[in-house]
Amino acid sequence: MTFENLNIIPPIREALSKQGYLNPTPIQEKAIPFILEGKDVFGCAQTGTGKTAAFALPILQLFHAKQLKGKTPGIKALILAPTRELAIQIGESFTDYGANINVKHTVIFGGVSQGNQTRALQQGVDILIATPGRLMDLMNQGFVKLHTIEFFVLDEVDRMLDMGFIRDIQKIITKLPVKRQTVFFSATVPPEIKKLANGLLTNPVSVQVASISAPAEAVKQSMYFAEKQDKKDLLKFVLEKENINHALVFMRTKHGANKLVKDLVKFGISAEAIHGNKSQSARQKALEGFKNRTIKLLIATDIASRGIDVDKLTHVINYELPEVAETYIHRIGRTGRAGEGGAAISFCSSEEKAYWKDILKLVGNVVIVEDTPKFSNARAAEHDEPERKRNFSNNRRFSGKRKF
Ligand code: AMP
Repeated sequence: MTFENLNIIPPIREALSKQGYLNPTPIQEKAIPFILEGKDVFGCAQTGTGKTAAFALPILQLFHAKQLKGKTPGIKALILAPTRELAIQIGESFTDYGANINVKHTVIFGGVSQGNQTRALQQGVDILIATPGRLMDLMNQGFVKLHTIEFFVLDEVDRMLDMGFIRDIQKIITKLPVKRQTVFFSATVPPEIKKLANGLLTNPVSVQVASISAPAEAVKQSMYFAEKQDKKDLLKFVLEKENINHALVFMRTKHGANKLVKDLVKFGISAEAIHGNKSQSARQKALEGFKNRTIKLLIATDIASRGIDVDKLTHVINYELPEVAETYIHRIGRTGRAGEGGAAISFCSSEEKAYWKDILKLVGNVVIVEDTPKFSNARAAEHDEPERKRNFSNNRRFSGKRKF
C-alpha cells in the first residue's frame, strides 16, 4: 500500500517523502479513505501508530480541494488534544505534512501568556489545534468562534477524560455546528467514551489497530527487581551496562521526578524533569534539549509525557511502575515507533509488585527478568528475600500466570 493508492495528492506526498514516510501505517490505511469520503470515524489507536497523520493528511487534502473552505471566513477545522505537548506536536505535524498546501494553522494551549495566540487568531486561521482549557478561555473572551467549524477532531479522548476535561468538552461541543465531520481517537474505549462517541458521531465507521493490550512487538521488555533506595544505583548500572545515551525515564510523581534529577546530577548524568508543575517554557526547553540530545535523560510523569514524540527513541525506563497497567503500554509505546526497535526496562520494588502483576496480565509472557546486582546501600527488605528468590530468577521469561 502506498500514499498514492490512498489517493493522497502529490503536494502532500512530496511533503511525506521529505519526512521519510514510505508507506502508510495501518491506522492511516484504514482511516484515510473514510475521512476523505466525508465519513465520521471512531478510531481506536494508541500513540505511535501514526494516528496524527491519519487525520491530518485528509484534513489538509480536503482544504486543498476546497472542500473545507466554506463561504464564511473563520476556523474550519478544530483539533482538541489533552496536553500542550501533544497539541504542539500535532501543530508540528501540520507544518510538516502541509508544507506544500496553502492553509494556516495555529496551536493554543495554557500555561503561557495568551498574547501570541490571540494575535495569530486575529490574523485568521483555517485549522485550530487546542487544549480544552485554553480554548474555553479564549472562547469566553471572544477570541475564538466555532460556528464555522466543518471538521472536528478529538484526539486521545481517554486521556482528556482522565484529566477532567469532560465538562469543557461538552461545552465546546454545544458551540459547534451540528452539520460537521467528526473524527474521534481514543486508545481505550471504556463505557463513558462509548457514550460520548455515540452522542458526537453520526453513522461512524470504526477503525482499530493494535489494541491496548498489545504493545509494539518491536519493543524488547525487561525488568529488574530493586528496592526504592537502590533504584538510582540500578539506573546508573543499567545505563552503563546497556550503553544507553538517551532515554525517557518515567516516574509516578512530580516530586519523585525532581528528586531523581538531583540524584542524577550528583552522578554527573545530564537529566531534566518534565511535569505539570514546570512552566511551559521550562517544559519546552527540557523537551528540546532531549530531542537534540544535549540532555541524556528526560524524567517525565505520565500526564506530561503524553504525546512526547522523539524520533528514534531507543530506551524507555520505568523507574517507577505505573498504577494503571495500560499506562505501561502508553509509556513503552514511546519507543519502537514506526517500525524501529526499542527497549523498555522496568524497575519493580516490593511495594510495586501488585502493579507489576497487573502489567503482566496485560502484556503476557514477554518480559525478560534480569539479575539485579547488590548495591552498598542495599538494605533490601530482608523479609522479602525468599520471595525474591522464588519470583525473580535470572534472565527468564516471566509468565503473567505465575503467582507473584
Ligand atoms: P503518532 O502516532 O501520530 O504520534 O505518530 C508516531 C510516529 O510515527 C511519529 O514520529 C510520526 O512522525 C511517525 N509516522 C507517522 N506516519 C508514518 C508513516 N507513514 N511512516 C513512517 N513514520 C510515520
